[in-house]
Amino acid sequence: MKIAKNTVVTVNYKLSDAQDNLIEDGSQPMVYLHGGYENTLPKIEEELDGKDTGYSTILQIEPEDAFGDYDASLVKVEERSRLPEPLEVGMQFEGMPDGDEDEEPMIFTVTEIAEDKVVLDGNHPLAGIALRFSLTVTDVREASEEEIAHGHVHGAHGHHHGDDDEAGEEGDHVAIHPIH
Ligand SMILES: [Zn+2]
Repeated sequence: MKIAKNTVVTVNYKLSDAQDNLIEDGSQPMVYLHGGYENTLPKIEEELDGKDTGYSTILQIEPEDAFGDYDASLVKVEERSRLPEPLEVGMQFEGMPDGDEDEEPMIFTVTEIAEDKVVLDGNHPLAGIALRFSLTVTDVREASEEEIAHGHVHGAHGHHHGDDDEAGEEGDHVAIHPIH
């Protein structure tokens, strides 16, 4: 069947940057609910809409349509004493930009550690990077009523409800989830 609103699409993918440096090898296929549920990047939905199983393409998505441009003002230097120990480069924290409670919480990544200071970067790891997706549609099925009501896919590779709900919420495919 063709990809349309409220179909569940299985896509094999590889993600690289515009210089073909591999970012994600897509060892697990991406399975998403099609139709503007923000399960994947809008540009991917736009490209796949109306296509069928077997469709294959390479799609380049510019930063403004993916994870935004790199914003140097989101890089903060923080007192190390304000952060938990042990601290490692690559650790992520949720915080408010400038401590403003009205703002959306942001994810900060530790990029440098000095004796008493820490550099925190609020940019998405893929900010400022043009993304090149190599996509092959391997399955299209109708979504269940429950999936449509929940706005996400259930079952294999989908959303699992249960004890590990917290950890499994968005899966580990950070690269394909748009940031709001
Ligand atoms: Zn659900």
